[in-house]
Amino acid sequence: MEETSKKRGRPWLWVLIALLAIGVLAAAAWFVTFRVNHFSLELALTGDPKVLLEYGDSFTEPGVTPILRGTLFLKEGYTPEKLEILRETDLNEGKLGKYSIIYSAKLLNCSAAAQREVRVIDTKAPTITLKEDPEGSLVEGVIYQEAGFTATDNYDGDITDRVVRTEEPGLVTYAVTDSSGNPAVAKRQIPFRDMVLPEILLEGGEDYTITLGTRYEEPGFTATDNVDGDVTAMVQVEGEVDWLTAGTYPITYTVTDSCENQTVVTRNVEVVTQPWQDTVYPEGKVVYLTFDDGPSAYTAELLDVLDAYGAKATFFVVGSGNGSMMRQIVNRGHSIGIHSVSHNYDQIYASPEAYFDDLMNMQSIIYDNTGVKTTLMRFPGGSSNLVSRHSCEGIMTFLTQAVQDAGFQYFDWNVYSGDAGETKKTEKVADNVIEGIQQHRVSIVLQHDIHSYSVDAVEDILSWGKRNGYRFLALQPGSPGFHHDLNN
Ligand code: ZN
Repeated sequence: MEETSKKRGRPWLWVLIALLAIGVLAAAAWFVTFRVNHFSLELALTGDPKVLLEYGDSFTEPGVTPILRGTLFLKEGYTPEKLEILRETDLNEGKLGKYSIIYSAKLLNCSAAAQREVRVIDTKAPTITLKEDPEGSLVEGVIYQEAGFTATDNYDGDITDRVVRTEEPGLVTYAVTDSSGNPAVAKRQIPFRDMVLPEILLEGGEDYTITLGTRYEEPGFTATDNVDGDVTAMVQVEGEVDWLTAGTYPITYTVTDSCENQTVVTRNVEVVTQPWQDTVYPEGKVVYLTFDDGPSAYTAELLDVLDAYGAKATFFVVGSGNGSMMRQIVNRGHSIGIHSVSHNYDQIYASPEAYFDDLMNMQSIIYDNTGVKTTLMRFPGGSSNLVSRHSCEGIMTFLTQAVQDAGFQYFDWNVYSGDAGETKKTEKVADNVIEGIQQHRVSIVLQHDIHSYSVDAVEDILSWGKRNGYRFLALQPGSPGFHHDLNN
């Protein structure tokens, strides 16, 4: 009985114990939830954290989501519905630039912030507007009268003054760039018609003079056009110069530009003759010894013999002749003259041009070897040769005039040694010459210093001549030529 009443008499104790237990459990729950578990808050941006906003468009806030997480509980995160989120920004949609939006929020002891960048940009090109040409305002010609234009930009406004205008034939180009670097180009076709003639510049001038016998070479020219630029290659050259016949020869230069403007200029090439040499006969009894077709291996010995007798002679040399011997001839006081480079009759008498090419080339060879620009010459075969008939009818008649018009003097002979085939005997050569000399007061003797038997005859000739009062002289400009009668 007692025991039962005892037990029944203390129910409050159980209540107290129960309350204590609840308290301990609650404390433990609090401890675990807020001390063992750590909360954190974050703000998650919706959309791009960096936004490009085209100037003129409105910014639409994409939003931000708060997420509460715990290390023990709410690991997956929890979004409090009514949490107040603060939003601060310096965004100015009306001005290009870089702006930021800062989001922040607080919950429990946690705080969170997030940032979004907004760039206001301009990617739209400006607009160029060309004013229409009022009727008739276009000028046909080089100068175009600008009808006007404007340029506007969605951001910069009127940027007409920044337009760069370039004009070329038939086209005006307008270009502008806005402050963000967006370019715009407009083009205007203009009914351009070039009325300016191309220009031709003649090197050497419009009056051009050459000496007869000098091959005419185009002195050169340039042609330019205001539209087409260098048009030298389009120039048509017409006309010919007969550089072996005195006269004035027009050469025309014609060029047409792409707009059909044509320019024609004329060069008058005058081929002038040189005055003919007056013949001056020497005093007394004179022998002009002349030697053709060398110099050869025998020429050195011949020069020694001439020196020994104080005699001077004349050498009409060929292209195959030894150059240093040509120099010796000149240095030892003799005359040097032109014979031929090739001495090939078919070649040199094929045409007047061919003859003159050979003549001028031989003159150059002599000049190169001796420094003497000789005008003395002898035709291969002499002016009376028949052989040229096969190649060119009448050529000797033409050439004998032309060479003198070109400033040369040609020499034939009135004494022939017979050393070119008639004899190979030294005594016969000497006899022929000595016999011939006596027929004239002044003689030109033809020998060839390529034949030893002819060279060997010279000492006898000199010896006889000296004994008989002859002077042995070298031919000079103006010496008598003893021209033969022509056969062709
Ligand atoms: Zn000859």
